[in-house]
Amino acid sequence: MGTKSIMLDMDGVLVDSLGALLNCYEKDTGIKLSTSEIDNYDVEKATGIEGINKYWARKEVYKNLDLTFDAKVLVSWLQQRGYFFEVQSFIESDETAIEKARILKDNGIFNFKFFQIGEGKKEFHRFDYVIEDNPDVVSENYRQLYLLQAPYNGYLKENRRFKYIRRLSDLINLI
Ligand SMILES: [Mg+2]
Repeated sequence: MGTKSIMLDMDGVLVDSLGALLNCYEKDTGIKLSTSEIDNYDVEKATGIEGINKYWARKEVYKNLDLTFDAKVLVSWLQQRGYFFEVQSFIESDETAIEKARILKDNGIFNFKFFQIGEGKKEFHRFDYVIEDNPDVVSENYRQLYLLQAPYNGYLKENRRFKYIRRLSDLINLI
């Protein structure tokens, strides 16, 4: 027990930052978009709205955000079992880094690593399991990848080392 190591992505896995981003965009413009319409990992490509990706750098997106219910359940399960887990996340601005760190600390998560875009890569190879939502990481070097299914990552071919999960709670039977 306690020997398994897990890397958890933050955006799209632990927090619904896409939903928060779309809410933030709606407040600014009155244009309502639903997460189910976002069928490309690149929100600008999915929506055709130029400049919407800039919202990822805005602290308002993360200001009132918390872990999803599923994420809270998973984290407390990992903590109770003594599994080693680390949150790794790319950050788009110093302001969002502060908010993201706050969200994690408020949930008793102190083991996290942030990377600036263009500076460093996530360290998938260090972990027994990688939990992500980004479809681009399927080609990376990992031991076992679980991709949390979303409209923007849905149709890749699974293999022995890469599988989809429908909910975070599925992991309780898998790791
Ligand atoms: Mg993500």
